[in-house]
Amino acid sequence: MTNELRYDETDIDEFRKEVSAWLQANKPRDPGFLLPQTFLEIGSEEVLDFLREWQFKVWSAGYLGMAWPREYGGGGLPIIYQQIADEEMKRLRVPILFNVIGLGWAGPLIINMGNDYEKKTYLKNILSAEDIWCQGFSEPNHGSDLGSIQTQAKREGDEYIINGNKIWTTLGNFAKYMILLARTEPKTERRYDGLSFFLAPMKVKGISTKPIQKLTGEYGFTETFFEDARIPASSLMGEEGWGWRIAMLTLQYERGAEAGAAGGPAMTPIYMSDLIAMTRKITRENEPLISDPVTRDELVKFMIEEKAILLGEKRANVPQLCSDYPRSLSLSHKLRTSEHFRKMRQYAITLQGAKGGLYVGDDEAIQGGFWQRAYLNNFGITIGGGTSQIQTNIVAEHVLGLPKD
Ligand SMILES: Cc1cc2nc3c(=O)[nH]c(=O)nc-3n(C[C@H](O)[C@H](O)[C@H](O)COP(=O)(O)OP(=O)(O)OC[C@H]3O[C@@H](n4cnc5c(N)ncnc54)[C@H](O)[C@@H]3O)c2cc1C
Repeated sequence: MTNELRYDETDIDEFRKEVSAWLQANKPRDPGFLLPQTFLEIGSEEVLDFLREWQFKVWSAGYLGMAWPREYGGGGLPIIYQQIADEEMKRLRVPILFNVIGLGWAGPLIINMGNDYEKKTYLKNILSAEDIWCQGFSEPNHGSDLGSIQTQAKREGDEYIINGNKIWTTLGNFAKYMILLARTEPKTERRYDGLSFFLAPMKVKGISTKPIQKLTGEYGFTETFFEDARIPASSLMGEEGWGWRIAMLTLQYERGAEAGAAGGPAMTPIYMSDLIAMTRKITRENEPLISDPVTRDELVKFMIEEKAILLGEKRANVPQLCSDYPRSLSLSHKLRTSEHFRKMRQYAITLQGAKGGLYVGDDEAIQGGFWQRAYLNNFGITIGGGTSQIQTNIVAEHVLGLPKD
């Protein structure tokens, strides 16, 4: 990335005004259908087209991939510009930038360790949303236990033949490419050694997808089947046997433990200010809930947690402030944020009393069931990319140095 480039504080202030003005002028109108709160629940072509057009517009205006190299469609600027654009996108509540597996993990991975061909072929189209990416790691019996995956990739001439079954493939039915973890060596002493990593095309004979419905009633991921699917041998990333190492690096990007994402909000920001706004509107015994001392106490606890998370994100970028437990902030980021949001959203529903049980589509639901949908969606966030239990193990072992068992 281009953190090392110099920038001027006055430029930055001007830039914030510029991006804010652009976003206000170009923010899409309400499309008249329910937009997803996260990139994990895009279930129809209609929603996809809307978000695709929006991402293309943001990228064309120069506010996405600002720190990615210029020769591959990026802006070649210091990362601070993207951070400001992201802050403004969140503040102005524009729609999410949905192509997250490309923007957030496949893209940075390709920039980090891809060859020139891979960079030229994939990066620009990730930014423009022309190519949608998905991730084929989990299998029906191997999620947390990723090292045991069974999908096979067998080399035959200039191709690999893929056989197996992946599951929970976010954006699987729309994707043109998949970051695929598969076994090229069935028998190795250490199970990790037989794995390889592919930048695999999805639109080939022998690959099919079946949408899976979520707790929220929405769709967004698929089961993905490979039956003698032939992909070019050039889709192999690095060398055979490097799969585990590349997959672990990918997960660092996915969990927010490594920088490099192109930018843009992947999820609708839902902050304490939103919850406080709700407590001003709901009344109990004719008084707004915000004036109840017990509620205020609870709100303050959540506000402290939110502030700590936001300050932690800033602190993580200053190595001198992270020397006591190196990487503690980055490695615990996913666990802290996803669990905080889950508890905060659950509390929002509790505050709604009897109406807490109403969902999207019910005329009586508070804010159209926004908090209920957000709460149910949040379970996916505590699971995808490694469950909270797995994240806790990582912190225990890699930050605190506790023994494995
Ligand atoms: C919304 C969503 C989107 C997803 N998108 C994708 C995607 O695009 N691509 C993809 O490949 N996968 C995706 N996943 C899959 C996700 O990565 C897995 O669900 C996750 O890694 C857990 O694996 P599992 O479902 O097999 O559960 P399991 O691994 O079977 O876990 C079951 C339970 O056991 C616990 N557990 C397991 N092992 C341990 C341990 N060692 N210590 C303590 N507790 C443990 C877990 O925490 C969990 O509570 C997605 C999941 C969700 C929910």
